Amino acid sequence: MATVADQTVTRTSAEIIARVQSAEDDFFGWVPEVLLAYCDFETAKPFLKDGVTAEDWAEEMADPAKVREAAESYYEFALGKIADERGISAERSVTKLREYAWLMGRDDVVDAMDAAPYPQYGAPKVAAFGEAFGLVDSDCATCGQPVVGEGKAYCSDACRLADKDHGPDEVGGDES
Ligand SMILES: [Zn+2]
Repeated sequence: MATVADQTVTRTSAEIIARVQSAEDDFFGWVPEVLLAYCDFETAKPFLKDGVTAEDWAEEMADPAKVREAAESYYEFALGKIADERGISAERSVTKLREYAWLMGRDDVVDAMDAAPYPQYGAPKVAAFGEAFGLVDSDCATCGQPVVGEGKAYCSDACRLADKDHGPDEVGGDES
């Protein structure tokens, strides 16, 4: 259930920078895209463009009290990426959601996402996030796993392999 740790940023600026610096395989810089905005100016400075002032940064910074809101709206966006099956976008979504979970102190969610398999463009990882934060609308009647995404919805590999579709019916291609 929701706790205080789920509602706000629980990490210090120093912890945030340490995580940015130790992020492995973050070739596209997705980790700092989420984390830096929750870092104070002095700590973030070496990572900012030259000329960014404390005043500029005060406007750029995200509100730590609204991190949950930001994470939830990003989750909705991530579901769209799964539906679209855009591989690289989905991978970015997974990385960013994981970082939001980390910001809120949910190491358990970070671990769950890392442990979840990555078929169907990250759907199981996004599902692990959604389930932890109570954002999943329905569980699959067949396998009991949370159903994520629209259209070609995903619940589990077992259902996927059995070719069960738990989302709205796909439009048939043969309309002649
Ligand atoms: Zn299922």
